[in-house]
Amino acid sequence: MQSPTTLAERLALIRQRIAAAADRAGRDPATVELMAVTKNHPAETVAEAVALGLDLMGENRIQEAKAKIPLCPARARWHFIGHLQSNKARDAAALFQVIQGIDSLAIATELDKQAAKLGRRLGILLEVNVAGESSKFGWNPEAAVEAIPALNALGRLDLLGLMTVAPYATDAEKVRPVFRRLRELRARCEDRLGAPMPVLSMGMSGDLEVAIEEGSTLVRVGTALFGARPSLLRKTEPNDEAGIA
Ligand SMILES: *Cc1c(COP(=O)(O)O)cnc(C)c1O
Repeated sequence: MQSPTTLAERLALIRQRIAAAADRAGRDPATVELMAVTKNHPAETVAEAVALGLDLMGENRIQEAKAKIPLCPARARWHFIGHLQSNKARDAAALFQVIQGIDSLAIATELDKQAAKLGRRLGILLEVNVAGESSKFGWNPEAAVEAIPALNALGRLDLLGLMTVAPYATDAEKVRPVFRRLRELRARCEDRLGAPMPVLSMGMSGDLEVAIEEGSTLVRVGTALFGARPSLLRKTEPNDEAGIA
């Protein structure tokens, strides 16, 4: 097959990849949500994605999101997928429906406070550093289970599930144990919570098949949809927080 050149073609290929992986796992493809990761891409690109039926978008920098989201179609839903600093919690609470990168009780507490001020509820996912990489944010798996009751006590936050960013690997099969461990950890978190945590956010452009086979309910796809990220936007953002590029 020729390599796809339009967003519509790339989207069709990703939908095929999702469907094939779901099929292998005996799952309904409709149980896997596709998030378009729009970081470093302009509002016009978001509009194109929305026109093709995508409505879940992910951003990992608050400054960028704050400038971009107001320019995007109102139909888009937004999740924050990066490490959140407490001085950005107010903006995050105003801009996003779900914060996927919750990596401490302190940031969750601050977010809860800001959500209360805004009179809204927020969904949260706990980012787990399954492989224990020193370069990554996220909970140690055991600490995440221990934190469940305290997180659940935050009245404005809904504990929806877990997310992880697997280590980079040229062979996605190598990171299968990471995804499996996140699924197993979710079961333990649900036990502790005494309620379902429906979302398992795992899988990106290079490893979404393996993630789906291991139970992912939400794949976060940037490069495979939009191509390589332009780095131009970064120059206009001197206050960028460190994120996973
Ligand atoms: C950038 C990013 C993605 C998308 O990665 P691709 O490999 O471009 O699909 C997914 N998740 C997070 C947390 C990211 O920062």
